[in-house]
Amino acid sequence: MRPRILLVEDESAISEPLAAGLEREGFDAEVVATAEAALAAYGAREPDLVLLDIMLPDGDGRDVAREIRRSSDVPIVMLTARGEEVDRVVGLELGADDYVVKPFSARELVARIRAILRRGRAGGGRAKPVTIGEIHIDPDARSVTRAGEPVELAAKEFDLLLHLMRNAGRVVRREELMDEVWDPHWFGPTKTLDVHISWLRKKLEADPSDPRYITTVRGVGFRFIPAEEASAAG
Ligand code: CA
Repeated sequence: MRPRILLVEDESAISEPLAAGLEREGFDAEVVATAEAALAAYGAREPDLVLLDIMLPDGDGRDVAREIRRSSDVPIVMLTARGEEVDRVVGLELGADDYVVKPFSARELVARIRAILRRGRAGGGRAKPVTIGEIHIDPDARSVTRAGEPVELAAKEFDLLLHLMRNAGRVVRREELMDEVWDPHWFGPTKTLDVHISWLRKKLEADPSDPRYITTVRGVGFRFIPAEEASAAG
């Protein structure tokens, strides 16, 4: 099913090309131009994600975000004008998931929307713990054990391990890990990823120089051993 995007933007010079771009990229885009229409459209159709301009003809996009947040965890991305630094902060404090500063490229925005939708809705029920070999990770408790012993992980190490374990057996590309674990604003070098991988190996692997759980696929990314291989290897 195509993800449904509600685009709340009163400037047609922005909303029309953006809606067309979203449709081309496989989304269903609905455009409304006022705060009132935004709340009505949200209530009627419960989109998968809301793109929300701050300056609307009949109100403030931040009030719309607050109103939506009273009843829903739907991802909200604020569209801010250049230089609205305060709005960025307020936008995120009120529960928005991300923001983009105008002018933005449709391509950049689509990449962020995909990353947010992949991360899934916050508070969407209990997340499943994963056990592979001796490693057990519980997303809700944010706890990790190795052979029953607690392992202390920093936040990014935890997020990285969780994404790798949820995708065990698959080679996860470096770009995907940067998107998922750091943020969709990221571009540039990925040295920090290698540093975090080496920290994880020190904490989880019997021999970090010959890792069994997290292997490197040179030039591509990393792979967490799937459960069947972990048990076969003892
Ligand atoms: Ca506006």
